[in-house]
Amino acid sequence: SIVFLNGDYLPAAEARISPMDRGFLFGDGIYEVVPSYQGRFVGLTPHLQRMLSGLEQLSIDAGLSLADWQQLLTGLLAKNQSMGENLAVYLQVSRGADSKRGHAFPANIKPTVFAFVFEIPPAPIADKAKAPRYRVVTADDLRWQRCHIKSTSLLGNVLHYQQGYAQGAQETVLFNREGNLTEAASCNVFVVKDGVIATPPLSTELLPGITRLILLAILRKYSSYPVEERAISRAEVLAADEVWLTSSSKEVAPVVQINDQWVGDGEPGDIWLDVQTLFSAHKYEF
Ligand code: PLP
Repeated sequence: SIVFLNGDYLPAAEARISPMDRGFLFGDGIYEVVPSYQGRFVGLTPHLQRMLSGLEQLSIDAGLSLADWQQLLTGLLAKNQSMGENLAVYLQVSRGADSKRGHAFPANIKPTVFAFVFEIPPAPIADKAKAPRYRVVTADDLRWQRCHIKSTSLLGNVLHYQQGYAQGAQETVLFNREGNLTEAASCNVFVVKDGVIATPPLSTELLPGITRLILLAILRKYSSYPVEERAISRAEVLAADEVWLTSSSKEVAPVVQINDQWVGDGEPGDIWLDVQTLFSAHKYEF
């Protein structure tokens, strides 16, 4: 495949990054993953806006505008079109290489900008029989207090994901000290009760997911379901009729089991089917 590194397009095998890069030494960087199907990106602009916001919060200036980034991703996708129909772009900007490994931001450091393309499964489809059936466990959210930044420092998320994986689950749903839902290790979470759809409000405790953003916009524009962004307790999650995970690769995915308990009747729900149908129909509009 062809990758982008610091202004150049080159074969992946020829890309070289210094071991003194602060992305490697400190996890000092921001990343994004943008999916595309048949050459069309989903949520390209909001993904790039989130990245630019993260870079600004870390005082990293990659010297690229939103339009520059759009051009970079579109160009990189075109150069890798032969890899398949369903491709995601992974983007990472780190603070750059620093021979001293000092904690303070070094002056005059050049950020490292890297992007590569990888193949992803076909877009999820709204079909109960073919739907993924997620089993999750719950845990106290032990990550840091800047979870809204899509930082490459993912150890907290990796440990929580592994916590579920070690118990045979495919995600770990997290609760803050007040006992309220934050998100999962690599997804946002929605719950449904009596036809009302709810998800936690944006805060420093969760990533502002682009799938979450697009889904909320679609629901408000194209459905009549009541939608709430509000605090959701552990008891509410456990008593929900439906629970969904959202992420760029999963879109809207039904959770059928939490810990040792079924969600609803243990099957993907009717509202999930309706909502994934709407998502599939309108996801390119945002
Ligand atoms: N929450 C976390 C911690 C994530 O890593 C991700 C990314 O996949 C998400 C939520 C979902 O975000 P998005 O919908 O932008 O993929």
